[in-house]
Amino acid sequence: MDLGLSGKTAIVCAASKGLGRACALALAREGVSIVITGRGAETLEATAAEIRALTGASVRTAAGDITTEAGRAAALALLPEPDILINNAGGPPPGDFRDFTDQMWHDALNANMLTPIALIKAVIDPMIAKKFGRIVNITSGSVKSPIPSIGLSNGARAGLTGVVAGLARQVARHNVVINNLLPGPFNTDRLRITEAKAAAAAGVTVEEAIAKRGAQNPTGRVGDPEEFGAACAFLCSAYSGFIVGQNLMLDGGAFNSTMG
Ligand code: NAP
Repeated sequence: MDLGLSGKTAIVCAASKGLGRACALALAREGVSIVITGRGAETLEATAAEIRALTGASVRTAAGDITTEAGRAAALALLPEPDILINNAGGPPPGDFRDFTDQMWHDALNANMLTPIALIKAVIDPMIAKKFGRIVNITSGSVKSPIPSIGLSNGARAGLTGVVAGLARQVARHNVVINNLLPGPFNTDRLRITEAKAAAAAGVTVEEAIAKRGAQNPTGRVGDPEEFGAACAFLCSAYSGFIVGQNLMLDGGAFNSTMG
């Protein structure tokens, strides 16, 4: 299926690895010219080279921390008026609610709520003027089904979700759509790091721990980042203009519900 994206432009945040990289690759495969960001310049350049080689698309890099004004400015300087914006950043640390300091709450809100809002604010008017815009926020399944150990994430991402719910309905008439993708467990470095702890405690390999985690999922496995990237590309497509303010769970059916 041709998603109708050839010639479009995108900023994909936090895209040197994992889910962000998968979104960048899927968009590049559709002929989108992309700017990708990440803090580690070396990994970012290697990923850019890899995506160029795989797709032939234009891939530019803006090394920096997207949760800072300078990091956002670097990405926007390369592409001030993108057709597509994929918001992503690292998740806050886990822990006990009692141990979360004010600073930790501020950092979580900055990374997972205020940063995407700042980027949306920067790009939305040009999207409205062009009568085309696609914004996808990578949030988490924990927005819908809270994970007790990651209260910082549950709270900050739920805040973004609330803002997006209203804003998406204000801009949809201009063919600017905003949606959220809610990952369950996907096989990325992040998952490997979290599972490494469980593996060490159980005396098994990380692969075995991931397989065990996957076995509990209705699909019998964890997600492949490529599946995530494909869903993201569809939400950015020419055909997604009637999908507005949605929260799409990509969790293999782990969230148990008859609907919604
Ligand atoms: P990952 O494999 O660790 O990749 C994270 C990517 O983001 C890397 O490219 C990293 O590069 C970049 N990054 C992190 N913080 C950044 C920052 N402040 N500025 C710029 N780039 C930054 O993680 P992932 O699994 O793809 O997760 C992506 C998001 O989805 C996270 O918020 C995570 O909490 C959420 N999530 C993931 C899962 C899952 O199972 N994978 C499930 C639920 C939610 P640098 O380190 O070089 O900056």
